[in-house]
Amino acid sequence: MNERYFKFARKAAKESSYHGSHHFSPAIGAVAVYKGSIVASACNSDKTSPLQARYNVYRYNCDTTLPKNHAETSLVQKLRWKFGDSIQWNKVHIYLYREYANGTLAPSRPCRSCLAMLETLGVKKISYTTENGYATEHLK
Ligand SMILES: [Zn+2]
Repeated sequence: MNERYFKFARKAAKESSYHGSHHFSPAIGAVAVYKGSIVASACNSDKTSPLQARYNVYRYNCDTTLPKNHAETSLVQKLRWKFGDSIQWNKVHIYLYREYANGTLAPSRPCRSCLAMLETLGVKKISYTTENGYATEHLK
């Protein structure tokens, strides 16, 4: 984990148009680090997608019936557009960032849908904000 990448994920979160039902800021930013550099950044949004719809079945409690894109989904779409089938997902390290309205760090571990999607693709490493700092997780 390289903490400087969270700066870029934070910037991506600022672009988010997503408005959930939560009272705290639901904006989440994501960057993909591949072969030593950031190759894509994304955020969650009010836009919907078939990819999000497909993986939303993995979630116990969906806060909306619309398959609004999570940051991870949007990031995966961008990586597919950019690299097509040539990307080696096991070498992609995804960084996620979220903060509360007062600017302190908030948890941004992927939801069940996004974890299922990332594991299906073969992504092995994710890092995300927690209320206490940062965490890295190795996926199956
Ligand atoms: Zn998700």
